[in-house]
Amino acid sequence: MDRNLKEIRKALESAEHVVVLTGAGISAESGVPTFRGADGLWNNKSIVELATPESFDRDPRLVWEFYNWRRGMMATKEPNPGHYAIARLEKKVENFTLVTQNIDNLHRLAGSENILELHGNVWRVRCLGCRKEYEERKHPMDEPSYCECGGLLRPAVVWFGESLPHGILEEAFRVSATAEVVLVVGTSAIVYPAAQLPLVALQSGARIYEINLEPTPFSGQATESIFGKSGEILPQIIPEES
Ligand SMILES: [Zn+2]
Repeated sequence: MDRNLKEIRKALESAEHVVVLTGAGISAESGVPTFRGADGLWNNKSIVELATPESFDRDPRLVWEFYNWRRGMMATKEPNPGHYAIARLEKKVENFTLVTQNIDNLHRLAGSENILELHGNVWRVRCLGCRKEYEERKHPMDEPSYCECGGLLRPAVVWFGESLPHGILEEAFRVSATAEVVLVVGTSAIVYPAAQLPLVALQSGARIYEINLEPTPFSGQATESIFGKSGEILPQIIPEES
């Protein structure tokens, strides 16, 4: 095995407090579109304009149509070996937190349990009337959908221009500040506030290992960066039997 991979494996085996931060890259390997570049359109409409509170205020039917499409697409995707490796790691580490920017639920499907979903989850909804938030697996949803209280339902995901759920973000900062080892997987970590998490960990003396397809602005600061598919690299660092 690559010397660098061995080093990461050893660091993980001796750590009692580990944080893993994941982004779109790990799910892209399962076929979930990242909505970057040419992927940034749905029915010729810009995702950046659709996934906003303004767009939902203007046309909740259209936004639900878009989310029905996303939910239907995500329902066909499965976790890859990278997701499963992260779920295995959780079983081995005393104090483990997975912080994800992904809304696709693939980490849960792979068996991860202690997850902070920074951007929400596509299978959850929130009522704009009674403010209740809950899991809703029905598919397709009505366009638009209503709560039993009569209030308008929206996907419980963070849209462009919205702030991240406060309690979850706070907890992500707390665990990052006390982690011994942080794995940054499949995220360029350039978008605030997720980008701050590895920096906070670094300042507290954690070792940060980055696994990304290509170098990112964060690469220079990581303890070690490994470039390649997380679905191939993570199972080497976190093997099935060890
Ligand atoms: Zn309601």
